[in-house]
Amino acid sequence: MELRVSTEDRIDVVDVTDRVEAEIQSIERGLCTVFVEHTTAAVSINEAEPRLLEDVEAFVAELSAPEGWRHDALDGNADAHLRSSVLGRDVSVPVRGGELALGTWQSILLIECDGPRERSVSVTVTPSVE
Ligand code: ZN
Repeated sequence: MELRVSTEDRIDVVDVTDRVEAEIQSIERGLCTVFVEHTTAAVSINEAEPRLLEDVEAFVAELSAPEGWRHDALDGNADAHLRSSVLGRDVSVPVRGGELALGTWQSILLIECDGPRERSVSVTVTPSVE
């Protein structure tokens, strides 16, 4: 399955938990991998508390100097590549009874590093062998 996710700022955090969960309702048990198909975006798991999401955006901005990188001569977005490289492009979450077995405060977050754009996020479930 593939989700299309729109982001609104150069650095932006979008909670995609509900959209991922809607895709896996027919799966009884397994492991769900959420993978962002880009080199300037990332995915992570954390609490989707609005003030924390603002903190994440501020922290992500601090992960790289905004300019002065060799790749900037090509398309001016080396900082976005470096931020996404540090953050990672996938997470795996157990599936139980058609639901994501996340902790109480855990949400799946797409982290945009070079927006605004529309992003492709693949959702793959590997069934458990019983
Ligand atoms: Zn680039």
